[in-house]
Amino acid sequence: MSHVLLTGAASGIGLASARALLAAGHEVTATFHSQQLPDDLRKEERCFPLQLDITDPAQIATAVKEARDRFGPVGALVGNAGTTDDALLLRISDDSWNRMMEINLTSAFRLTKAVLPQMLKERYGRVVLISSIVALAGGPGQASYAAAKAGLIGLARSVAREVGSRGITANVIAPGAIETKLLHDAGAERIGAITGQVPLGRTGTPEEVAPLVVFLVSPGASYVSGAIIPVDGGLAMGL
Ligand code: NDP
Repeated sequence: MSHVLLTGAASGIGLASARALLAAGHEVTATFHSQQLPDDLRKEERCFPLQLDITDPAQIATAVKEARDRFGPVGALVGNAGTTDDALLLRISDDSWNRMMEINLTSAFRLTKAVLPQMLKERYGRVVLISSIVALAGGPGQASYAAAKAGLIGLARSVAREVGSRGITANVIAPGAIETKLLHDAGAERIGAITGQVPLGRTGTPEEVAPLVVFLVSPGASYVSGAIIPVDGGLAMGL
């Protein structure tokens, strides 16, 4: 079993992933931001709750050190925290653009860079970055989010090539239309329009993403690297 560092564990896909990783026997450093982790995670001995703003490089350095002090070297990073700030391109300010990059892309670079030395030393590691199907398909009003999420693909695939020979894999999960706060922020009309295009005819749940997170951090995923795996009910099929 691994020590997994998982960001954005207080809600949505992160929370379901934290629960599934713990159920699979892993030790989980579960980071949260403005909202505390629920009681079941806080009471679990194999869960180390850590407050982290992923836009702060100093906090990332401290978090990775504290995680290591608690459970030893980080064997797997799950970069899950992220957010949207939807606006049509002509209305996106530089500030909003830069913030979307910081939260959704630069944080993954910094986190990966911070855990990689431990993985290189152990000659084992799993990097799993949560992107989005909009990274592949684009989305009206989502240029900054889509660009940042697409950046995660280049990041993960470069890492996969750079350190694959040391037993480290890097993969991307591309969810689509998963029932979380983030999806609901898009509004009922847009959710309806998206769901209409999903072959399964419904939105997904965080619990339907979590098993893939568990698989990708597991030893059984040792020959899966540089992959982009959608969990989207077939929405982005073929992209
Ligand atoms: P949630 O809003 O439930 O989760 C997002 C998490 O990211 C929250 O826990 C949030 O914490 C955290 N977060 C945001 N900003 C920061 C920050 N600056 N520092 C630390 N943590 C932060 O939505 P989801 O579960 O849906 O999102 C999880 C991931 O899945 C995201 O990367 C998202 O882009 C991606 N995704 C989701 C899809 C969906 O349909 N739901 C589709 C495609 C991708 P807090 O609220 O406390 O700020």
